[in-house]
Amino acid sequence: MVKAVGVRKAYGGLPVLSGFDLEVGAGEVCTILGPSGSGKSTFLRCVNHLDPIDDGKLIVDGQILGYRERRGKLYELRETQLRRQRRHIGMVFQHFNLFPHMTAAENVSLAPRIVHGRGRAETQIDALSLLDRVGLRSKAEKYPRQLSGGEQQRVAIARALAISPKLMLFDEPTSALDPELVGEVLGVIREVATSGITLLIVTHEMKFAAEVSDKVVFMDGGIVIEQGPPSVLTNPREERTRAFLDRVL
Ligand code: ATP
Ligand code: MG
Repeated sequence: MVKAVGVRKAYGGLPVLSGFDLEVGAGEVCTILGPSGSGKSTFLRCVNHLDPIDDGKLIVDGQILGYRERRGKLYELRETQLRRQRRHIGMVFQHFNLFPHMTAAENVSLAPRIVHGRGRAETQIDALSLLDRVGLRSKAEKYPRQLSGGEQQRVAIARALAISPKLMLFDEPTSALDPELVGEVLGVIREVATSGITLLIVTHEMKFAAEVSDKVVFMDGGIVIEQGPPSVLTNPREERTRAFLDRVL
C-alpha cells in the first residue's frame, strides 16, 4: 500500500530524509519511532502530498505520488489531479486541527461533501454514525471549544474516516493530550487498526505500538535504522535503536 524507495527531502539545503526506504502492505499497521527532528512528520507529510519529495519514489496504492505513468513515461500531475490522488488518504495531527467554527458533525461531514461531492443529508447521516463509532454521538452538535482534547481528537479521527480512507496517517495523535485522555484516543485507534485500513502511526506510546503494530520502524537522521515485528522494541539489533529505547522506556 505504501512503498518509499530512496526518498530524499531537504529544507533549504538541510537534508531531512536521506534515502528513506519503507514498505507497508495493505491493511498493515506500521508505527514509526525516532528521536525529535529525525524526519517522522516530514515523511508523513510527503506521503500525504503536503510536501513534494526531492528524489526517490513514493508509491501509494499502486500510484506514484505526484506523477502519472503512461506508456512507461512519467508525467507530473496538476493540482486537481494531485487532489484526486490523495482522496483516500486520511490524516490525524497532534493538535487535532478541527475547524473551530463548525460543530463536530459538520467537521466530519465536510470532506465527503467537498472532496467526494456527496449530498448533505447522506453525509450528515454518515457523520453521526462515525461519531457513534468513536463514542461521541451525543456531542455531534458541540463545537471544538466545547470538547475535551481527547474528544476533539476522536472527532478528528471520525473526520479522517469519513473519506473512506485506504490509508490513514497519524502524527503523534496523543502527544498533546493530558495523560488521562490518552487511553480513550488509543482505544479508538486500536479499533480502527482492526478495520483493514492501512495505518502509519508516529507515536511515542511504546506499549501501544507493541500491541497494534504489524511492523515497527525506527528512524534516525532521515533514514530507517531498523524495522521489523514489534519484538524490535524488546530486542533491537542496532545500537542506535537500543539507545533510543533506553531513553524513552
Ligand atoms: P518531532 O518528534 O519533534 O515531531 P520529527 O521526527 O517529526 O520530530 P520533522 O518535523 O520531520 O521531525 O523535522 C525534521 C527536521 O526538518 C527538523 O530539523 C526540522 O527543523 C526540519 N523541518 C521540518 N519541516 C520544515 C520546514 N517546513 N521548513 C524547514 N525545516 C523544516
Ligand atoms: Mg513530528
